[in-house]
Amino acid sequence: MIRVDKPVAPPAVLLTRGVSKAQTHRNDYGAAPADHRRGTRTFDFDKSVYAAAEVKGELLAAQRSKCAFCESLVRHVSYGAVEHYRPKAGYKQRKGDRLKRPGYYWLAYDWDNLFFCCQLCNEQFKQNHFPLRDGRRRARCHADSIGDEEPLLIHPARLDISNHIEFRQERAVGRTVEGKATVRVLGLNRPELREARTRRLKSLRALLRVRELLHDQIARASTAKLRAELANIDAQLQASQADTAEYAAMARAFLTP
Ligand SMILES: [Zn+2]
Repeated sequence: MIRVDKPVAPPAVLLTRGVSKAQTHRNDYGAAPADHRRGTRTFDFDKSVYAAAEVKGELLAAQRSKCAFCESLVRHVSYGAVEHYRPKAGYKQRKGDRLKRPGYYWLAYDWDNLFFCCQLCNEQFKQNHFPLRDGRRRARCHADSIGDEEPLLIHPARLDISNHIEFRQERAVGRTVEGKATVRVLGLNRPELREARTRRLKSLRALLRVRELLHDQIARASTAKLRAELANIDAQLQASQADTAEYAAMARAFLTP
């Protein structure tokens, strides 16, 4: 996971149709709060707003077409989806809990709450999980403040993600309570991801070995060709840590002395 740096201004559709839809949901809840808590009344969320082409487009650009959680490049094998950090319809504090309603219906079209992610992170792992450090402080309706919550799932736009999740080889390891919960809830060590990250590590190690050999050669007899090869290797190592690279968080951890 690396920081997602979204444009500050939300896509227009969220400020127009999104704002009015959210107001409708607040009114619906206000008219029958008990029914919404029992789940006998639910919200009619409008995917054509929160997952509108302009929303998806801006998220894809900000996230360099990678899943906000696992950093896999999504688009060449699946459509991926616009998903909610705080789940809109219902939530679970722990795996195995029954789904509690309502969810964060008032944030269904909130720019800060939307991310692009892969099907596996979303449908198989995150689902409706949204654990808090203290579940009693959960915002249960739009009148409550989410500022009182201490989410255990790391928000992908946070600055300090690497302080919470480190890498030991290809394995993601939580350094904090939030980091541990995020790795567990999102399945960031599922075998397929570890395989993919292991492949990336192998190629990084190979580049480092070649880099060392080139350094030795250049120290003995420097030529323009050798220097050009070395520059090429350095550029590849640099590119592996860029926001655009798959598994950049792991590459940064591996290559940072
Ligand atoms: Zn993912």
